[in-house]
Amino acid sequence: SRTPIIAGNWKLHMNPEQTTEFVDAVKDKLPDPSKVESLICAPAVDLDALRKAAKGSNLHIGAENCYFEDEGAFTGETSPKVLKEMGMDYVIIGHSERRGYFHETDEDINKKAKAIFANGLKPIICCGESLETREANKQEDWVVGQIKAALDGLTADQVSSLVIAYEPIWAIGTGKTASSDQAEEMCKTIRETVKDLYNEETAENVRIQYGGSVKPANVKELMSKPDIDGGLVGGASLKPESYLELVNYQG
Ligand code: 13P
Repeated sequence: SRTPIIAGNWKLHMNPEQTTEFVDAVKDKLPDPSKVESLICAPAVDLDALRKAAKGSNLHIGAENCYFEDEGAFTGETSPKVLKEMGMDYVIIGHSERRGYFHETDEDINKKAKAIFANGLKPIICCGESLETREANKQEDWVVGQIKAALDGLTADQVSSLVIAYEPIWAIGTGKTASSDQAEEMCKTIRETVKDLYNEETAENVRIQYGGSVKPANVKELMSKPDIDGGLVGGASLKPESYLELVNYQG
């Protein structure tokens, strides 16, 4: 059975000093990692501090983005190879903010997923529709298209070990959470897509998170759904108290 995974995505918040303070405040209060996996994904400039502070604890660590080449003349990019050397476990890719503000395409995201696996890291692949797409009732086709493109050419073993995050754009940072039924419906569709593309076992193994205004008040309800295996949390992951409430949702 799948181990739930609750991840903070700090976005463009926090500096190295705040990172150390945050980890010091949470590291001895995290859940048993066999029951719930606790993860923080931080800005690249904070990752050295994150690794040092988290060392020896149950906190998993990751980056919010990387490039699909390990090295070369790519000014300003982050190497997946160096992220691995720095001790990262995960890299978020294809967040709607990256797709929207930085024009990342499905093809870029697929290349990043392959580069991440080539370096022994695991991707958290984000997908999700805009309000316009949902109002046109085209959200399923949209998300299934994103998933097919992102997974293109990956093996069943790779897909078994990665994480997919369903984040409807209209629920991100808006305080407007998808209802737990809406979230479950799409996470189930994503799992069925993985089954169609691969097989039953891969679909049973892949972990699917919901993201979009997840907070201590709604995490339990969301996590009670059969196809929701975790949360990808922005705002509510920035304070130690709130992060601890989220990862310890099982009580
Ligand atoms: P919020 O939790 O702030 O809505 O952000 C969600 C998100 O985008 C996480 O990746």
